[in-house]
Amino acid sequence: MSSITACVRFRPLSSKERRDHGDSVCIQCIDSQTFLFKDEKEEEYTFGFDKVFYDNSDQAQVYEFLALPIVKDAVDAINGTIITYGQTGAGKTYSMEGPSILVHDEQKRGLVPRVVDGLFDCIKSSEGTMKYSIKLSMVEIYMEKVRDLFDLSKDNIQIKESKAQGIVLNGVTEISVLDAAEALQTLSSGIANRTVGETQMNMSSSRSHCIYIFTVQQELKKDDRWKTGKLILVDLAGSEKAEKTGAEGKVLEEAKTINKSLSALGNVINALTCGLPGKASHIPFRDSKLTRLLQDALGGNSRTALLCCCSPSPSNALESLSTLRFGMRAKHI
Ligand code: ADP
Ligand code: MG
Repeated sequence: MSSITACVRFRPLSSKERRDHGDSVCIQCIDSQTFLFKDEKEEEYTFGFDKVFYDNSDQAQVYEFLALPIVKDAVDAINGTIITYGQTGAGKTYSMEGPSILVHDEQKRGLVPRVVDGLFDCIKSSEGTMKYSIKLSMVEIYMEKVRDLFDLSKDNIQIKESKAQGIVLNGVTEISVLDAAEALQTLSSGIANRTVGETQMNMSSSRSHCIYIFTVQQELKKDDRWKTGKLILVDLAGSEKAEKTGAEGKVLEEAKTINKSLSALGNVINALTCGLPGKASHIPFRDSKLTRLLQDALGGNSRTALLCCCSPSPSNALESLSTLRFGMRAKHI
């Protein structure tokens, strides 16, 4: 049975939000798991999550609660996934990368560099009893095509399923890394290869899902096979509705594709968490490239953490509410 931890993170108000609406926010903290949310019609809702990170939360707290248990499990060959969800500008990439994954500022470093450090720390502390190797892959899903961010000539990678290996990205580049510094340099080259688009939300925003894949392989054979743990980090494309961005033409097509894959993700998470025990329910993994790629990581013996990123500003209440509802749907068992 898979388990999911669903958290919310409110970023601080942006300077634009402050300029337009002063200090007003649409949320009121109750405790570290519960808050009141007021929509644009002043209607109030109470939300409860596994953890709520308010605007004063720091990157280390998010890592320790959300990612550290999953990192430890990956080293024990249990698959894990960490997903950031939310509208463009809500703080997904900041949570995942920080200002940049190469930044040394301990306060600002995001999940990716902390996960890299965490993996190498875990491996080092179990030296003597076990040897490990770590391999990296990095892809983005843009317009339902999987592009290899370590080799742009591979722009339509096929997803296959094999008995022995589970879900496989056919021919994807895998780079072995020996330490954290090498891993971060490698991932940074992948980030530089991403597709970036400009929307009228006045922000350079990624219209693709960015996926970091860490394969942690134990170097001793057990039952005639090498045990591996796969840890996947997903920085999703913005969840905002297409109309709000004033999209047309290509941008509208992008938005529709994104919305389709995000609802597929919602449906899969929902089917996994709501499945009646003992009853083999149909999980619609094949409805999108995103869910197909995450099939192993979400299903079976695995852990998933979802970070729903929101703006606290009343001007974004509608999108925040939609993000929170996505998170609630995932959380419910
Ligand atoms: P997204 O990836 O969801 O589109 P970003 O992560 O790029 O959004 O965040 C948008 C802006 O808000 C960036 O300038 C980022 O630095 C800032 N930001 C987001 N989250 C935080 C946070 N928790 N603390 C400080 N600044 C943040
Ligand atoms: Mg982003």
